[in-house]
Amino acid sequence: MKVIQNANLRDYNTFGMDVSCKCLYLVETAVDIPALFEKGTFDSEYMMLGDGSNVLFTKPFQGAVIKMVTKGIAKLDEDADNVWLNVAAGEKWEDFVEHCIQNQYYGVENLIGIPGLVGSSPVQNIGAYGVEVKDVIEEVRGWRISAKSPFAFRNEDCQFSYRSSVFKTGLKGDCLITDVVFKLKKKEDYHISYQGLADELQKSDLSLSLRRVADAVVAVRNSKLPDIRQYGCAGSFFKNPIVEKDVLDTLRKEFPHMVSYPSGDGKVKLAAGQLIDLAGMKGVREGNVGVWPHQALVIVNYGNATGDEVVAFYRKVQKNVMERFGIRIEPEVNVI
Ligand SMILES: Cc1cc2nc3c(=O)[nH]c(=O)nc-3n(C[C@H](O)[C@H](O)[C@H](O)COP(=O)(O)OP(=O)(O)OC[C@H]3O[C@@H](n4cnc5c(N)ncnc54)[C@H](O)[C@@H]3O)c2cc1C
Repeated sequence: MKVIQNANLRDYNTFGMDVSCKCLYLVETAVDIPALFEKGTFDSEYMMLGDGSNVLFTKPFQGAVIKMVTKGIAKLDEDADNVWLNVAAGEKWEDFVEHCIQNQYYGVENLIGIPGLVGSSPVQNIGAYGVEVKDVIEEVRGWRISAKSPFAFRNEDCQFSYRSSVFKTGLKGDCLITDVVFKLKKKEDYHISYQGLADELQKSDLSLSLRRVADAVVAVRNSKLPDIRQYGCAGSFFKNPIVEKDVLDTLRKEFPHMVSYPSGDGKVKLAAGQLIDLAGMKGVREGNVGVWPHQALVIVNYGNATGDEVVAFYRKVQKNVMERFGIRIEPEVNVI
């Protein structure tokens, strides 16, 4: 395990916030975890961090930051239809998706291009283009901080929902995820009904393949999202709001083209990006911060923005949407 005192976290968060922490622990093997308890690492302020692509640091972090950098993709089992893989938390999500595509395992190709580590993927139940990671997670393994003992949660224990799980709600901060077990399909099974993806695939009449679907997803993503090597951001800053169906019916009288998706219990999910756009904030920039011109859900650090600047700006976006539609949009990003 590497331990860095007074570490600068600028290279550890995709928003590019120039903040430090008291101590950064880079955990290279799960065998090191008991030592973290013995050192008293969790007795004062601490947080888990992956690749920092879903966090916004607003100030220096006065405690310990624990980052899993463990590696390994191991086949646990397979039958005629499925394969079960155990993946270490420190594996890059991107590398895992590539591994699946190369081995003809179906299930995560729509999630290509999402930054971050495998260990973070269950936390907000990452999703894109009609697929969520909950659809392929069999088990999440790690350590409970309060009990100082290992856990293994089956899919149903993780309380997955839209951009959320038990790791982001009831057990927030109490689970250090070390491994995720995925169940993937060995037979063709594509999810291509998402409109933008379907449109992209229709541009050519080549037959479907894992690579082709993945390439189409990448093309759609590249047309909308900033390159994080150039512009700091954390992807979608806001979650899509879920409202009662009658709220949508009322809105559609004024905005007949309001986008919505069914969300169960008679509720509907609205597109936060569309609300931001209609509230006049798409492409708006104030100093170092702005709404990305090609995707209104993304707030971008154009230069050396501070966390406070980003917070002031996202609250303004929230306020404008509230004033225009009476709907509160909530951050998807973890504001620290
Ligand atoms: C350009 C861009 C595009 C994106 N597109 C998408 C998208 O399409 N869909 C989507 O869902 N997300 C998207 N995201 C958000 C982000 O990539 C995902 O949420 C990703 O899973 C975060 O991974 P990370 O390793 O960076 O986690 P971090 O941001 O470092 O951490 C996220 C949360 O997980 C916790 N955590 C991290 N590691 C562990 C661990 N080992 N144990 C317990 N808790 C842990 C952290 O405490 C934090 O609460 C995008 C982000 C960017 C920058």
